[in-house]
Amino acid sequence: MTGLNFSHSLVLCRNLSGGEWFDDSHLPKSEVVSPYTGKVIGSVPLSTPFEVDRTVSAAAQAWPAWAQMPLRNRVEILVRFRQLMIENLLRLTESVAFESGKTKVEAEAGLQKGLEIVDFAISLPNLEILLAADVSQGVHCQFRREALGVVVGITPFNFPAMVPLWMIPLALVVGNAFILKPSEKVPLTSQIIAELLMKAGLPKGIFSIVNGGASAVNALVQHPDVKAVGFVGSTSVASHIYKTGTVLHKRVLALGGAKNHIIVTPDCDVAHTAKGVLSSFTGCAGQRCMAASVLVAVGNVDHVIAKIHELASAQCLGRDMGAIIDRAALSRIESAIAQAEAQGAKIILDGRGRQPQLDQCQSGNWIGATILDHASPTMECAQMEIFGPVLTIIRAETLESAVQISNQSPYGNAASVFTTRGDVAQYVTQHSNAGMLGVNIGVPVPREPFSFGGTKQSRFGHGDITGRSGLDFWSDLKKITTTWPTLQANQAPTAGQFLLHTT
Ligand code: NAD
Repeated sequence: MTGLNFSHSLVLCRNLSGGEWFDDSHLPKSEVVSPYTGKVIGSVPLSTPFEVDRTVSAAAQAWPAWAQMPLRNRVEILVRFRQLMIENLLRLTESVAFESGKTKVEAEAGLQKGLEIVDFAISLPNLEILLAADVSQGVHCQFRREALGVVVGITPFNFPAMVPLWMIPLALVVGNAFILKPSEKVPLTSQIIAELLMKAGLPKGIFSIVNGGASAVNALVQHPDVKAVGFVGSTSVASHIYKTGTVLHKRVLALGGAKNHIIVTPDCDVAHTAKGVLSSFTGCAGQRCMAASVLVAVGNVDHVIAKIHELASAQCLGRDMGAIIDRAALSRIESAIAQAEAQGAKIILDGRGRQPQLDQCQSGNWIGATILDHASPTMECAQMEIFGPVLTIIRAETLESAVQISNQSPYGNAASVFTTRGDVAQYVTQHSNAGMLGVNIGVPVPREPFSFGGTKQSRFGHGDITGRSGLDFWSDLKKITTTWPTLQANQAPTAGQFLLHTT
């Protein structure tokens, strides 16, 4: 039913420093547990400032040669990496699904998005072709993109491959040495990514992995030789990383949590809307920052809600929807549902206690799609990030008040509208204050080269994490303005001037 192979051997994750793998067996370990089965599938060392320093020092030694390498040569390595990712797609897909609880289809979709960023990075030589121009008679201006040095990416559990791949190709192609601190809940896939990068010919020390939790993160962010930090995770940690890094004058882009709203108007296409809303709130079991967790129903859209209910009730756990990352997250989601009911929301679909029909999965972390109707905008279920397959419905009388409800969220990752009317779509896209907007799209993830990033408490720092914005984050643009006396005079150099230059 799941299409997954449950007979994996235990994976003992290692740290990668200076191109060498370290068991670091003296360190305490954290167990990696599959959300599907509840069984231990690996372990990960919890690194200390010592392992951080060892890795940063090796990266700092390696990066100047990498940064000086011609761009085309760096790109060639990424082209080989892309090919290796495609050859290893099934292995990567199974690893992502098994450690994070995604379905196979969702796991592969994340990898395809990662490949899209690799494609974008590979296109850099063609992208940058216009970064020079004659700005006046005999005067030439040019941008020169320079690497920053040793940079770090800290990533969450919900996309073990895609989120690291938002950062790795862009940071590497511009000439940095990149250190990944994957989530300790899903560290397995990054071991494969490292193996493929090295097989592609990446010089030692240019990609490293420091495993661990908060202690490793804090040591990385505070290390004097780390120049920039990309972070993706919860808002509280994003805010902490942003403050810690920027006080030390580092460049930080920290993406946080989300509470995305979908506005549904009575004129919408019912089948299309129901499918879009369903896949948005149940995709990845609601564990994605682009999940729509609030539906703002404008006027009477009960017929649309009935269709969403029908589709959600028919979902099969393990096939249509994956598992929740761990026991703690599952009980947090269950408590949020109970609390919503206590505060007056009406549970019209209750996924608590649902299990997939599969023996191996009985000890996994499961919950079915849940719909809470008639919530008010001030209830916790309407405000806090539940990060599970729970849709909260708020009723609004007008489009204007629906947009206001969406805009009052402290988060600003995404918002969508489902309508067949152009003026409705235009009003929402003009007045919504979220960073990524969808019209008749439940998960409005911009495809490359359009960049990914939210607003308000969904993002601390400037710019987006992918697209050209991502390239700019991981590099500096040096501006070079040049003129030559002969060019100004519009003359060919005289024979005497040549002699002068050659003696
Ligand atoms: P998390 O914040 O718990 O962990 C993210 C990373 O931070 C991990 O590598 C973890 O080891 C580290 N970390 C955790 N606590 C820390 C602390 N106290 N000090 C320093 N480092 C710490 O997030 P998560 O639970 O792994 O991921 C889910 C969250 O990520 C959700 O809030 C989701 O919305 C968000 N997310 C956001 C985006 C986005 O693009 N905005 C994308 C994916 C996930």
